Amino acid sequence: MTNDLQEIHEECGVFGVFGVANAASLSYYGLHALQHRGQEAAGIVCVDENGQFSRVKGEGLVTEVFNVKNLSTLSGSSAIAHVRYATAGGGGLDNVQPFLFHHHKGNFALCHNGNLVNSNEIKYYLEERGSIFQSTSDTELLAHLVRSSRMRGDNFHDDPVHPLLGPIRSALNMIEGAFAFLVLTPDALYVMRDKYGLRPLSLGKLNGGYVVSSETCALETIGADFIRDVEPGEVLVIDAEGLHSCKYSAFNHHYMCAMEYVYFARPDSDIEGINVHAYRKQSGRILYKESPVEADIVVGVPDSSLSAAMGYSEESGIPYEMGLIKNKYIGRTFIQPTQDLREKGVRMKLSAVRTIVKGKKVVMIDDSIVRGTTSRRIVKLLREAGATEVHVRIASPPYAHPCYYGVDTATYEELISSQLSVEELCMKIGADSLHFLSHKGLYESGNRCELCTACFSGNYPTSLYDNECKKC
Ligand code: AMP
Ligand code: SF4
Repeated sequence: MTNDLQEIHEECGVFGVFGVANAASLSYYGLHALQHRGQEAAGIVCVDENGQFSRVKGEGLVTEVFNVKNLSTLSGSSAIAHVRYATAGGGGLDNVQPFLFHHHKGNFALCHNGNLVNSNEIKYYLEERGSIFQSTSDTELLAHLVRSSRMRGDNFHDDPVHPLLGPIRSALNMIEGAFAFLVLTPDALYVMRDKYGLRPLSLGKLNGGYVVSSETCALETIGADFIRDVEPGEVLVIDAEGLHSCKYSAFNHHYMCAMEYVYFARPDSDIEGINVHAYRKQSGRILYKESPVEADIVVGVPDSSLSAAMGYSEESGIPYEMGLIKNKYIGRTFIQPTQDLREKGVRMKLSAVRTIVKGKKVVMIDDSIVRGTTSRRIVKLLREAGATEVHVRIASPPYAHPCYYGVDTATYEELISSQLSVEELCMKIGADSLHFLSHKGLYESGNRCELCTACFSGNYPTSLYDNECKKC
């Protein structure tokens, strides 16, 4: 089976400011705090008091895209900003967000995190009605849907105070999937989260204005006070009058992406009231209860597995040791688009500390196994450094199904847990033993009743439309 996903699959971060001086600088710091969510491209759009939009965007890290000179071209007290991580096929400057749309009824800027599952259907629907697309992005689809809403004659009437609200609610009711969308007009910031609650989005307050961010760590960075999370299915309008909230859907679930807790989010972020570090630590405790082992030291794979390793160590009483060191100046291995580059990436990224692991029975904790490259390489590193036994414990269940909600996790073929049993995988990575956290443990770690766990269970919270055929 070859089934390269054709659309862009983005795992991104969004940040927005309304009514706070120096919105561009705040956005720059906000994006910096969200850098872990996307290292391929970044952009900021500002709007000033005369309704003039300005934009800087480019490919690369936040510090590479922005400088004092280009930031000074962005003026105004409102902005939206974006960091992107796109897989092969989704790159190029044309696809770098935020997008800016010019329309006789008013210009607006738009950015989003997530992935729509019915984008092909929507694209076909819009093209049949005369739309022509410049990019392959879901973001552009939403812009066209918003502007064509009047032609649909649905029940979402124009609100004279918030003219885009009706069209936006109408558009959101046509799309399906995971998203956190920000729309900026000269007078308002519209903020929306998908009705399943798949992607995180938080609201904060700063100097009399408002700030929104994919993660609370960015609110903390700029000194904003956290107010609350944006609710699934909620549309917030922030303007000179303050905050106005309504729902585009009455569907009421909180299927937060489990991988946000397991891997993506920064440990200092709180997602739906649960601190990410605390979640991971608890998952490590549960992992020990579910799969104990006798060993001399617990070693976590930096950085995302350190919290789970601490939990495993505390619960087991086995000392936690810094047996692996990360070179901080190398990006995440996944960024490398080919397997060969990814393999090299792992080698450049991590070293085992010989004096610590030599002669020891090691429990190595990692947050997840996706393609299997990282674990195999790390087990080898630890053995080469003199570990006598390497027992691998993974703080999530086997990742056996692709994600269609904006996380690049490739195809069934590439997902090692969809190809091999746990015993076979243990042999493949060369470990003495291998165990994964249970599905129940995923929920218990955050005391949650609902989560999206589709990549572990195959139970997708939404319909998959034509993505379903990619299962083959
Ligand atoms: P591998 O098994 O070699 O594909 O890599 C798994 C490692 O990549 C895990 O230890 C995670 O830290 C990290 N990881 C898991 N999911 C993703 C993802 N969607 N994007 C980037 N890195 C990921
Ligand atoms: Fe997150 Fe997995 Fe659900 Fe995708 S399928 S949203 S990665 S939990």
